[in-house]
Amino acid sequence: MFDKVLIANRGEIALRIQRACHGLGIKTVAVHSEADRHAQYVQNADESLCIGPAAPGLSYLNQTALLFAAKVTGAQAIHPGYGFLSENAGFAERIEAAGLTFIGPSAACIRTMGDKVAAKRAMREAGVPCVPGPDSSMPTDDASILAIAAEIGYPVIVKAAGGGGGRGMRVVQEEAELLAAIALTREEARLAFGNPELYIEKFLGHPRHVEIQVLCDAHGHAIWLGCRDCSLQRRHQKVLEEAPAPGIDPALIAKVGERCAEACRQIGYRGVGTFEFLYEDGEFFFIEMNTRLQVEHPVTEMTTGIDIVQQQLRMARGEVLSLRQEEVQLNGHSLECRINAEDPITFMPTPGLIQRWEVPGGFGVRVDSHVTTGYRVPPYYDSMVAKVITHGATREEAMARMRLALKELIVEGISTNIPLHRDILDDPAFQAGGVDIHHLERWLQQRSPT
Ligand code: ADP
Repeated sequence: MFDKVLIANRGEIALRIQRACHGLGIKTVAVHSEADRHAQYVQNADESLCIGPAAPGLSYLNQTALLFAAKVTGAQAIHPGYGFLSENAGFAERIEAAGLTFIGPSAACIRTMGDKVAAKRAMREAGVPCVPGPDSSMPTDDASILAIAAEIGYPVIVKAAGGGGGRGMRVVQEEAELLAAIALTREEARLAFGNPELYIEKFLGHPRHVEIQVLCDAHGHAIWLGCRDCSLQRRHQKVLEEAPAPGIDPALIAKVGERCAEACRQIGYRGVGTFEFLYEDGEFFFIEMNTRLQVEHPVTEMTTGIDIVQQQLRMARGEVLSLRQEEVQLNGHSLECRINAEDPITFMPTPGLIQRWEVPGGFGVRVDSHVTTGYRVPPYYDSMVAKVITHGATREEAMARMRLALKELIVEGISTNIPLHRDILDDPAFQAGGVDIHHLERWLQQRSPT
């Protein structure tokens, strides 16, 4: 049980978590870098503490400073948000060793899921469908490697077990390229992740990114909260998300969702989490699990009516999950546009002073943001300044509301990707629903051939 939480994050998610805490009568401690001194989440907190200079390595990633901040303020729990230390098993361990609660799964679960080979093995054992390919690391002798790839069938993808952020993978079209690709990827993985372990799987040519949200307590109960489609990506970064994934048989989603919940029960998972899948030709293939809250959680909240962050706090407090699977009702459709401070053509970040900031409103419109008129977007962090979320009885209604919301959202002083979102909403392929993960990049290429 805890009644004071330190939020080890910044920006919109710090504010989002803070609101959920306050809603439950939990006090909050905000930590901030020197650059975030005047942020709204700092002002709204019950207490705040500066933990270091602007550079994330010296502040938001500084485990010792965070633990010290919890100690001096008497916070009994730490919420890591997303990004930063949210999937760092060592940090979770240090928090628990200090007698505090880490608001997330056990360090052991984070570690297993952080190792993609171990994660794939655990999921296959639990009956979750995975991408074809062995759930063991790559053998070292060439003959065995070539035999495995031949059995999977080309093209294949070589991936780093410790990889993340879309890095540490290479597509191989034919046998002649395989061994050289492995040597390169192994070296990259060793340098980037400190772990040269690789694995190999079938490369899917035109998949969609579809993910399933789960919610679990510490008493063996687990439920799934529908699915999201996050296929609109640029350089592996999600741009626009929606729930549910259009055009996928709800019975199939339910079957996979139930496998995910069962996997959580088997591995003793606690808190919120997301199973990420590639979906192609009517089939789901697990790629990885995120053991934390995700940026796009609001589209699930809008379609289920469940406050995921509040539930996460309750689960971390040791409460028994009060929701049963049959009580999770999916209503209508929701979209989320990530509004970034970036040039809409070059995608270069555009930090600076926001001279005017007017947010949209109305029925079915939600804005999660930490910025206001007069806010200076710092150059040190992620460029996301807001998430505009809409809900409608149908996908068409959610899109229409999003169009209006983007028109009402007025930002002056910095460039944003609002024009890109408007264009996406006018794209007939997006309107039809079900585009694959390469669609946005292909479409951008056609729009402005270079
Ligand atoms: P990361 O942890 O770096 O995000 P993922 O395993 O989630 O790595 O893969 C990132 C992206 O790479 C996926 O969203 C997809 O676009 C692509 N990808 C990964 N595995 C495959 C595969 N087997 N076939 C096709 N694309 C893949």
